[in-house]
Amino acid sequence: MRTDVVVVGAGIQGASVALRLAQSGRRVIVLERAIPGAEASSAAGGILSPGVEALEPGPFYALCRASLARYAGFVREVEASSGMSVGYRALGTLEVALDDEHARVLAGRAEKLEREGLPVQVLDGAAVRVLEPGLSEQARGALFFADEASLDPRPLARAVYVAASRAGATFLTGEVRRIRTEGGRATGVDHAGGRIDAGAVVLAAGSWSLLVEGHGLPAGAVRPVRGQIAVVDTRPPLLSRVVFSGNGYVVPRPDGRILCGSTMEDVGWEKAVTAGGLRHVLGVAIEIAPPLAQAPVVETWSNFRPASPDGEPILGEGTIPGLFYATGHTRNGILLAPITADAIAAAVTGGVPPVDLSPFSPARLGAILRQR
Ligand SMILES: Cc1cc2nc3c(=O)[nH]c(=O)nc-3n(C[C@H](O)[C@H](O)[C@H](O)COP(=O)(O)OP(=O)(O)OC[C@H]3O[C@@H](n4cnc5c(N)ncnc54)[C@H](O)[C@@H]3O)c2cc1C
Repeated sequence: MRTDVVVVGAGIQGASVALRLAQSGRRVIVLERAIPGAEASSAAGGILSPGVEALEPGPFYALCRASLARYAGFVREVEASSGMSVGYRALGTLEVALDDEHARVLAGRAEKLEREGLPVQVLDGAAVRVLEPGLSEQARGALFFADEASLDPRPLARAVYVAASRAGATFLTGEVRRIRTEGGRATGVDHAGGRIDAGAVVLAAGSWSLLVEGHGLPAGAVRPVRGQIAVVDTRPPLLSRVVFSGNGYVVPRPDGRILCGSTMEDVGWEKAVTAGGLRHVLGVAIEIAPPLAQAPVVETWSNFRPASPDGEPILGEGTIPGLFYATGHTRNGILLAPITADAIAAAVTGGVPPVDLSPFSPARLGAILRQR
């Protein structure tokens, strides 16, 4: 079998990249060993927050903002194509300080962002509780990132998969075992059911990326970091906005369910939901909004962030021509899907990526890993 591009993995990255490549007229085959979108991309909270996640102005912050700026359009597009709703809500993100030390940290962050003219509002405790009356009386104040958003990643992953299929991408079931090279160039893949020759390969296998032979990345470039989530049900809805504290977060859905997350655990691919994990995420949620202690727990799950050594994604071509990376998105793969799709599709098709990909090149990883 021969195609223009073969994509390894049909999570949010693989499906979004396939969507853009198919729209550019390329023949694209996406190989997924299990169910498209069913791994990390369905386990995420769905927070789209450069303000809390990127911390410092710089290339990663700019990448996150560029992706956030694309999100409303991306959602309109995949909703129209798939006929599904992905629960996008642009109500802003709060990071609350529940003690004086965290209040000092937040004040320092606000100063840096304001100095660079970047969007942030500083709220005192009373103003925070006007926005979210369900929050703890302990809230000393908060940073408010008013133009940020959240969505439900499960329908998003499915909608992007449907949109990519309708744009012409072919999704096949098959575990990729090896990236083939000839004369040092990537020429396709071997998978459980055979071989596919291609002009380019995109590695988007999430936390499993280094299990694909011939990946071309240094050892430790991507590892699984488990995250656990518990969902509680509030009626009427207790909160509207995503709220972070220094220890975790809560993500309200419009129907009153509230996701409580998450842990960051180096336990390999052990997909357990543990008593300690639940104690942590529920404890954080109750600290943020004490009435949650009375809410029934209705669902729990865990999955694996594809973690890079610096928490930033691995994007673009590395040392093997024709092999492109869309992996290592760590905590922000949902947020970064639209910019990843545009940037990787441009790189694969010889266009100019909409952002400079050099800070996210796999070339940075060797030095970071050697320092450890
Ligand atoms: C608990 C939790 C909460 C999170 N919250 C957020 C959040 O609020 N906001 C945010 O932006 N991000 C969040 N994330 C991070 C986000 O989920 C990930 O960064 C993102 O989903 C990664 O997408 P992906 O497509 O690379 O990986 P995945 O969704 O894991 O997809 C990889 C796919 O590749 C397939 N695959 C693997 N190996 C092979 C192979 N050899 N052959 C074929 N297929 C293969 C897998 O089956 C899988 O379907 C969270 C993650 C977790 C775990």
